[in-house]
Amino acid sequence: MAKVTIAIDGPAGAGKSTIAKRIAELKNLLYIDTGAMYRAITLKLLNNNVAIHDKDRIKTILENTNIEFIEGSIFLDDIRVDDEIREPRINENVSEVSAIPLIRETLVGLQRKIAENNNVVMDGRDIGTRVLPDAKYKFFLTASIGERAERRYEELVKKGYGCNYEEVVKEITKRDKIDSERVLDPLQKAEDAILVDTTGKNIAEVIDIIMDEMKSIDS
Ligand code: C5P
Repeated sequence: MAKVTIAIDGPAGAGKSTIAKRIAELKNLLYIDTGAMYRAITLKLLNNNVAIHDKDRIKTILENTNIEFIEGSIFLDDIRVDDEIREPRINENVSEVSAIPLIRETLVGLQRKIAENNNVVMDGRDIGTRVLPDAKYKFFLTASIGERAERRYEELVKKGYGCNYEEVVKEITKRDKIDSERVLDPLQKAEDAILVDTTGKNIAEVIDIIMDEMKSIDS
């Protein structure tokens, strides 16, 4: 059977992971959250007090790090880190870490290997442009900054982190800026990706749009 590959990119809080997870269930695909991989490596660098300009130590860390997805959870060196990678200290550092070329090279290689061996829906920032440029289905999700911040704020509050809305706006604005302006694989809509603005739409509405677009690509 032909491989199925769906790429979903977009800025923080656009709804990528919720939508990608649901599409994976509906189409029986493996869901890969590439942001979680960048978060996991950020956690490892922070836990080991590695400075982001310390190329030698970063190289050594990468050579001795194992990142795996098992049954929907992410494992860093055999330890489940689903919750830790969502902590505010990771949000604050992940974009700087993700701009490091050696880290991108390593994680992009890993992501491509997973997609070679599985039918996947993968979400991130550079899936349609760099990781899987030949993906049959490509989507770029966006939403207004206000709505993206609100979603992120509610998520953090639900998890019990004390934060205020203004801080969340600042944090995701900063992350979007670094992600879009970095030299290597910036956050960018692939030319052939379908743009979906999720502002004011609920999950079911966005899923319907995506499923309909995929049907029309197939027909
Ligand atoms: O998707 P999420 O918000 O969890 O991603 C966290 C960070 O990881 C992003 O802000 C970005 O800096 C980085 N990232 C990336 N490339 C990807 C996925 C995430 O640079 N494909």
